[in-house]
Amino acid sequence: MNQPYRLTLLPGDGIGPEIMAIAVDVLKVIGKQFKLDFIFQEALIGGAAIEATGQPLPEETLTMARNSDAVLLAAIGGYKWDNLPRQQRPETGLLAIREGLGLFANLRPATVFPQLVDASSLKREVVEGVDIMVVRELTGGIYFGQPKGIFETETGEKRGVNTMAYRESEIDRIAKVAFEIARKRRHQLCSVDKANVLDVSQLWRDRVVEMSANYPDVELSHLYVDNAAMQLVRAPKQFDTIVTGNLFGDILSDEASMLTGSIGMLPSASLGADGPGLFEPVHGSAPDIAGQDKANPLAQVLSAAMMLRYGLNQPEAADKIEQAVAQVLENGDRTGDIFSFGTRLVGCRQMGDILLQILES
Ligand code: NAD
Repeated sequence: MNQPYRLTLLPGDGIGPEIMAIAVDVLKVIGKQFKLDFIFQEALIGGAAIEATGQPLPEETLTMARNSDAVLLAAIGGYKWDNLPRQQRPETGLLAIREGLGLFANLRPATVFPQLVDASSLKREVVEGVDIMVVRELTGGIYFGQPKGIFETETGEKRGVNTMAYRESEIDRIAKVAFEIARKRRHQLCSVDKANVLDVSQLWRDRVVEMSANYPDVELSHLYVDNAAMQLVRAPKQFDTIVTGNLFGDILSDEASMLTGSIGMLPSASLGADGPGLFEPVHGSAPDIAGQDKANPLAQVLSAAMMLRYGLNQPEAADKIEQAVAQVLENGDRTGDIFSFGTRLVGCRQMGDILLQILES
């Protein structure tokens, strides 16, 4: 056995505990098969943490997360906490852990599984084979730049201001992550900006070009964001890895993910400079189906695969999980969110059991 990996598990709220249980079972089997020793430690976040401690991110949780090799999160939130003041809401816990771990790179894959190709709202021939990774800068750009706020002008009229700003070092570190990821994929990186209009984008482009000298094996291209948005729905197969700033990435990552047509299948990762990454499904806590064994656990399981690939550098173990997920779909087993005529409806737990059988066969 190698050095044990210390994993912090944050099941959170709603369907969180149901889907996390499946991911943990999968990791246990994978651990045995690949001789990976996992130490699982569970902590509170979101509504569950509010109930127990009054805080959406207790200090204890952040400390545990910081001292681990990776953090696997399910989802937070629910009707019960919707009317609390912002500082005490579950979502605040999520923002706080991202900030507390210094996670500046958000990875959002959009992979169209052949078996779910008809779940997309786009034509089969457009989306078949799509496999994109959007790398979004997460802690800079217009969401954080100063000055920001609503100010009163001399005439008494109000003026809303946000500032899109990036330092060279912020661009360099996200570009580095993106080049490294492109290297683990098909060696193509498309940087998306608005350099024809925005100075901040010109600096972005200059730095990305400069950085590309270190990655001669990665083919770099550039697109303006408006064109990128069009190309994503016109011919998405042209993309491998995309890197972009916070605002453009927010929009493009959602656009790309919808090429797949199914929210219950979408994992994500957030990485920092060093220290543990955070791996979580894109979807929320789905309070409408919580506790009913109806949740699709596959986004959570695929998040665990991302954790192995990008957080623990265990690509073979990640491959095995991803292949098992593809096999489940191939067998025709579906939770309600991805069910279609001619497939077999299964619950969350049953989906997990089928996955385990495939992994162990
Ligand atoms: P949601 O993603 O929870 O649900 C949207 C719809 O998709 C619902 O109909 C839900 O049943 C379905 N769905 C989501 N995940 C599913 C899965 N794994 N299997 C089957 N169906 C699934 O978004 P929402 O309803 O807007 O938000 C619900 C709560 O989740 C809110 O409190 C919100 O703040 C929170 N939220 C949390 C996160 C997160 O933890 N990262 C993200 C988004 C929303």
